[in-house]
Amino acid sequence: MELPEKFVERVLRDLGAGEGAALCAALDGAPEVSVRLNEAKCDGAGIPDVVAQGAAERVPWSPQGFYLAERPQFTFDSDFHAGAYYVQEASSQFVGHLLRDVPTRGARILDLCAAPGGKTTLYASLAGPEGLVVANEIDRKRAQVLADNVRKWGTGNVAVTCCEPGRMADFAGWFDVVAVDAPCSGEGMFRKDAGARAAWSEGNVRLCAARQEEILRAAWRLLKPGGTLIYSTCTFNREENEGSLERLSAEVGDEAVACGAIAAAEAWGIVCGRVGAFRTFRFYPHRARGEGFFASVVRKAEDAACRGRLPRGRRQPIAAVDRTTEAELRRWVREPERMRFGVVADTCYAWYEAQADAVAALSAALPVICSGVALGQLFKGRLKPDPALAFFAGLDRAATAVAELDEEQALRYLRRQEVAPAAFAEGMNLVAARGRALGFAKRIGGRVNNLYPQSLRILKGE
Ligand code: SAM
Repeated sequence: MELPEKFVERVLRDLGAGEGAALCAALDGAPEVSVRLNEAKCDGAGIPDVVAQGAAERVPWSPQGFYLAERPQFTFDSDFHAGAYYVQEASSQFVGHLLRDVPTRGARILDLCAAPGGKTTLYASLAGPEGLVVANEIDRKRAQVLADNVRKWGTGNVAVTCCEPGRMADFAGWFDVVAVDAPCSGEGMFRKDAGARAAWSEGNVRLCAARQEEILRAAWRLLKPGGTLIYSTCTFNREENEGSLERLSAEVGDEAVACGAIAAAEAWGIVCGRVGAFRTFRFYPHRARGEGFFASVVRKAEDAACRGRLPRGRRQPIAAVDRTTEAELRRWVREPERMRFGVVADTCYAWYEAQADAVAALSAALPVICSGVALGQLFKGRLKPDPALAFFAGLDRAATAVAELDEEQALRYLRRQEVAPAAFAEGMNLVAARGRALGFAKRIGGRVNNLYPQSLRILKGE
């Protein structure tokens, strides 16, 4: 499909004939393929083959990012299913670079428009076990995909919520970092996604800009004084980018203050600019190695007004566990002393102690789809592990037998097909491939009961 005519007209007008034509030509070229490694899952088991065996090149602005020489079939790679990497477009990984000089370890980070979770997983790695990422997604179906990706990433420090940003108003001034990766007209995706070309219209650009204004206003209220706001889109037009920032700047005035300089951006072909206190960064595919992207960053003044007050007296869905239950749960994690245990409905969970009160406050006030680590359900005092526990980077592998499968058997497991019992001990097993955990299975005599979730199973190529 051709590029939309009105889009081409605008690009030639805004960028000039030469630069505009170069952008349009690049949008008809082949997209880059890139991934971001999950360092928590590479320490012990090593670098995934997709990076180690190809002629991968580093993404200059992302320490865990790599361009791949060609697009592998990710679906048939057990490392992909183990959460060892996330297939993430290179430009998008720049949000991590924007936070390079921000103390993100232990921070409370809100990712307000989060599904499917590319940036959420990046923030989760930055926040570490002392921190918390609240990943919000307005669309319920997309929020489920987000939750799946968060579980697979396995950092145990993310709470997924599903609500409209305005509904979070009780948490005003609560977050050290707020990221708005806004729903947009998607011009930057024209190279990767033919659907983005078909869905584009000038009317939609205006609609997106109005929506972004509303989201940004809510985001600003949720940000702590001294905190950092990141605003990004995957579109080129001014209205949704600089325009949205101008409208927010006009409203918040000198509450917005500039961050320090962002290193090296120009050398990577990124076009740097300013809108009031915001530093802005434009990725054009004919200049920088990635898809079209716009990112910006600003700080909220230390003395900005803040009217945060957490709601009190609402129903708390998290219940405490008794001592015997806790003793069983503690067996399954490597650092039980850093965790708090509890029950939601009939599933046992663990949360890092540092943010457990924060998660409880969220759970009492908002629709939380998942948080912490789902450990599983208790039957006669023994834990039947939840699939999410296998993905948790802090799982204690000594808690159960481990069945290490070769790639062929691993793919059978991931399809929920029968697997050969030889590698399995009697009873519950953690299933792993290339040293990375994929899920659980229970051997009973000569049969292996495959406990991989239906919702995650590989359907392709059956
Ligand atoms: N940050 C994601 C990532 O890196 O994987 C991509 C986010 S996507 C660009 C924007 C998301 O915003 C979509 O999932 C969309 O459903 C959601 N969204 C749409 N309308 C919204 C609204 N009014 N408030 C918040 N989020 C909204």
